[in-house]
Amino acid sequence: MRRSPNFARLAARGVRSLEPYVPGKPVEELQRELGIGNAIKLASNENPLGPSAQALAAMRAALTDTGLYPDGSGFQLRHALAERLGASAEQITLGNGSNDLLVLLAEAFLTPRTEAVYSDYGFLIYRLATQATGATSRVAPALGADSAQPYGHDLDAMRALIGRHTRLVFIANPNNPTGTWLETGPLRRFLEAVPRTVIVVLDEAYCEYVEGIDYPSGVEWIKTYPNLVVTRTFSKIHALAGLRIGYAVSHPQVAELLNRVRQPFNVNSLGQAAALAALRDEEHLRRSRALNRQGLRQLRDGLAALGLRTIPSVGNFVLVDLAQPAAPVYERLLRSGVIVRPVANYGLPQHLRITVGTGEMNARLLTALAAALAGQTRADR
Ligand SMILES: *Cc1c(COP(=O)(O)O)cnc(C)c1O
Repeated sequence: MRRSPNFARLAARGVRSLEPYVPGKPVEELQRELGIGNAIKLASNENPLGPSAQALAAMRAALTDTGLYPDGSGFQLRHALAERLGASAEQITLGNGSNDLLVLLAEAFLTPRTEAVYSDYGFLIYRLATQATGATSRVAPALGADSAQPYGHDLDAMRALIGRHTRLVFIANPNNPTGTWLETGPLRRFLEAVPRTVIVVLDEAYCEYVEGIDYPSGVEWIKTYPNLVVTRTFSKIHALAGLRIGYAVSHPQVAELLNRVRQPFNVNSLGQAAALAALRDEEHLRRSRALNRQGLRQLRDGLAALGLRTIPSVGNFVLVDLAQPAAPVYERLLRSGVIVRPVANYGLPQHLRITVGTGEMNARLLTALAAALAGQTRADR
């Protein structure tokens, strides 16, 4: 047999330094590895209510046609989204999750000679999508741990990194994993100051959850700032993460460029059918938002009662500072059947990100965390 070559040396340069994304641990994997049944997952910002009943019904109805290719143009869903958003269908690009759109934007606009700007503690996919193209990442320092938005985006610092070679700027509002946000005034001033030849990607994966702040609607700003691209997803509040469906709203010419690089059938037929139904189920959205509002409060209060500092969040998750290494606590939580998200890969080795669950799930997390901080697991007690 031939000796295998050093494949890594053959790989594209951007790929050589790439570290794969580490997702939240699936419940099944915990069952397999530790034999723990009845585990709960608060690790991937999934909606604990699951999909809307109408979305489920639409999927069932669409099952019979899965032998056929999906509508590659996503006609119905794009038109429904356009109507809802007050945009035109030509402005909408569908993606295999909004992750797909972030990658497509990078593929369409980045080369090894260009740069992308994003923030420290910004969503990890920005780094991966940028690196894979061989482009240079310019990472802006985040706001300080003691600021009103700890570890949040510092727009002035980001602006200072924009230069001649910058093609893309990635902004998450609110950001994951921090939960921090940007209000209308500062974001608007930022867009005003960015050269129109720099594409600003505004990632609004959690926008439907946001309440109680002066939260800008990025989509409405595209008329004024044609270099603005807004990405959104059906994975989070719509609870269709398993189907992989998201969208971008942009200037039609940007959409046309994305259309060149996307796979012709990047969004499957079940996803399209479910998303269309989910979009119409306002009641499910309201219930999800209400549950999250209660859960955020429950977690915030419960964590504070444990003497822990949380970062203010307008998403469906909270970042909590354990003031000690988080890895052993994470492991103990696993043994208690509670999966949360370590964020050491974000440079936050003492924090955990916890998704808001149902009241019962949140209570179980708080009990397990109290024990884990005391060095115990369910098995010890
Ligand atoms: C979850 C998430 C996404 C992407 O989710 P998809 O499932 O790919 O749509 C994008 N941005 C942020 C900030 C997220 O947290």
